[in-house]
Amino acid sequence: MRQSGQSRRLLIGAAIGGGLLIALIFFWIGYAARPPPDTSGLQALADRYRALGRHERGFTGQSVRAAVRRDEIGRHLSSLASRPHIAGTPGHQATADYFRDVLSGLPGFEVFTRNYSVPVGMTVGQGESLFTIVYSNGTVVESQRQEKELVKLNLTDQVPPILSFTPSGNVSGPVVFANYGKERDFEYLQQLNVTLSGAIALMRYGGVGRGKKLVNAAAYGCIGGIVYSDPADGWAVPGRLDDVYPNSWWLPPTGVQRGSAKMRQADPQTPAYPSLPFAYRDEFDEIKQQTDPPVFSPIPGYPVGYGDAMKLLGVLEGANISSYVKGGLPIDYRAGGSFAPGVDHARLVVNNRILEGVNAVNVFAEMKGDLEPDRYVLLGNHRDAWGAGAVDATSGSAVLLEIARMLGQFYSDGWRPRRSILLCSWDVEEQGITGSWEWVEDRLPQIREKVVAYINIDIAVRGNYSIRTNADPLLQEAALQALKNLPAQDGGTMFEEFKRRWLDQDYKLSVPIGSSDYSAFIQTAAVPIIDASYVADPKYSSYYPLYHSMYETLPVMESIIDPGLRAHGEVAIWGVEMLRLLSETWLLPYDEAALIANIRNRFNSATPPSQWGWPASAAKYDKYVNDTWKEFDSALTALEAESARLGSAVQQLQERIDAGSEDIDPMSVRGFNDRRMRVMQTLADPGALLRDKTLRNLVFSSQTEETEISAGFPGLQDLLAVAKKRSNETEIWKQIAQHVSALVFRMHSLRYQLQDSGL
Ligand SMILES: [Zn+2]
Repeated sequence: MRQSGQSRRLLIGAAIGGGLLIALIFFWIGYAARPPPDTSGLQALADRYRALGRHERGFTGQSVRAAVRRDEIGRHLSSLASRPHIAGTPGHQATADYFRDVLSGLPGFEVFTRNYSVPVGMTVGQGESLFTIVYSNGTVVESQRQEKELVKLNLTDQVPPILSFTPSGNVSGPVVFANYGKERDFEYLQQLNVTLSGAIALMRYGGVGRGKKLVNAAAYGCIGGIVYSDPADGWAVPGRLDDVYPNSWWLPPTGVQRGSAKMRQADPQTPAYPSLPFAYRDEFDEIKQQTDPPVFSPIPGYPVGYGDAMKLLGVLEGANISSYVKGGLPIDYRAGGSFAPGVDHARLVVNNRILEGVNAVNVFAEMKGDLEPDRYVLLGNHRDAWGAGAVDATSGSAVLLEIARMLGQFYSDGWRPRRSILLCSWDVEEQGITGSWEWVEDRLPQIREKVVAYINIDIAVRGNYSIRTNADPLLQEAALQALKNLPAQDGGTMFEEFKRRWLDQDYKLSVPIGSSDYSAFIQTAAVPIIDASYVADPKYSSYYPLYHSMYETLPVMESIIDPGLRAHGEVAIWGVEMLRLLSETWLLPYDEAALIANIRNRFNSATPPSQWGWPASAAKYDKYVNDTWKEFDSALTALEAESARLGSAVQQLQERIDAGSEDIDPMSVRGFNDRRMRVMQTLADPGALLRDKTLRNLVFSSQTEETEISAGFPGLQDLLAVAKKRSNETEIWKQIAQHVSALVFRMHSLRYQLQDSGL
């Protein structure tokens, strides 16, 4: 039985085996008779898919340092800073052509432009704005109409002192000294019984923006504003006012800081929309009427040097307020309101105009990524400058061109970035961050879908102490990583050098928000941003003294600020490595935990609703907000837990990538990257920042109001500042309640984005 069973099975096995063999033969004949299917396409596809997992370094920090050429930076700097180039002038038009020419000659780049038609503020003619002190005997003392010593510099097309977008006017009256022009400075003068109505306010730079000073002055009845740079604010060394330009970098008494006094960035005629030919434009007369919040100052404003400010201060009477002011001029600071004997009045004459339809030319150079061409890393700088602009921002323009040249060189050597790189030369930044903002408004959906990060280099070099990188929390670690990857000039890494420089201070990076071309990227598009600049030792100057004056020239840069252009080279090296890091790293180097921690800090340090001063008339919203505020806290706790989960998932994936695992699905990495790329965007709310509809980021936006209360969130802070002034209006408290609710919703929204789940 056993044996016969075995043989039967053998027989059956042979029959099946033979049958199969015959079938195979027939199959093979049939197969051979047909042309073989083309698997080369599939194979190519599989190869391409596998290649998406490429994660080696294309070039090293050493090779970046070896590639930089300071002579090239110097060449661009001398070409671009040879004459003033504020938008709307011939010097300015030439810079767009220069950029197009240089960038078009580089390997690997495609160059194109995006233009917008925008207004810029200018003076009427040359030197027609000024102030005068008129004596009873007929003597008239005039302010200077232009910086002196310019003839020696041989600069043509000088830009007269201006606070652009302030109205023209010819006003006369007493002068009051209103310190920084903050609301509380005017309150202080009021307490001293100084008559503000009908007066011209003399104010110093700092504390609040140019436009805000004038708006505050107008709110207290002043009819004009004069702004100057007081030595005490880092523009010169009090007590050593002879040690100034051209012997040093300190501002001489004749140096004048120009600037925009517009209160809303970008083209004010097309808020939230790009200034394209078909765009609907609000009329200037309408915009001038807007007061909540205001866009333009209602009164004329004019900037002067501290030499001229001293002439005015010297004839003021009234209370001695030197201990309140803490200024740096060798003079008693008096509240004013009346003049010294012999002086009859002061007069301020401002002749400004708005030049409409200026062509803002943004020049772009794109290097396509070979693996993920539809994901972009951007690096931008603005090309316009108030004067020759050797510091602001021509130092950055020259560095951008050198970064482009280095990338072109690596491209020629065979390097291809994983993601696309887009270099952006912005226009009309100095008149309220216009060129970049219009482009962001124009391409908003595409930017939000495709942009991994925006890197900003405005002023590349304003001192020779150390590089200083700032970033939003998502990218602060990455900004430092780029420094870790780069060798320092004298051994060690650039990060070690950076740490040494900032060790005795808190070297935590800050979040740049509202004063350069990164603004629209973080405030409107809500994409991650980084900013860098080589800065002076903050012990000596928090900024740079010749800022926006006609003395920002090539000799100052080359002989005083950055001899040998060493600092320029360092910023160029950092820029290239930052671009490499963000365009090449397979798993994007974001730090969500830092973002959540930043928001948590804001919440914890915020003044709670119970102390906001709800009036009885708005009690129903008070009760509502108290509950919402508790919900805010628990939403953050849930967010922290979610962020921790994401953090460990990222770490695990990164470990597999570092270990060279072969089984990582590129599609899932891409999905992971995309989800994280849009984390910040969940904070963007088109409707909740009611004070300014061009701003959307509920956490990282500038404020429009001066606030004393700590609320941590700009929209909330603005609303509370308004509520303080109009505390009995129920409507504003309703808006506050709505805003808090929107904030909590956005915290949930952020958590959904961190979650690895469906809808
Ligand atoms: Zn600038």
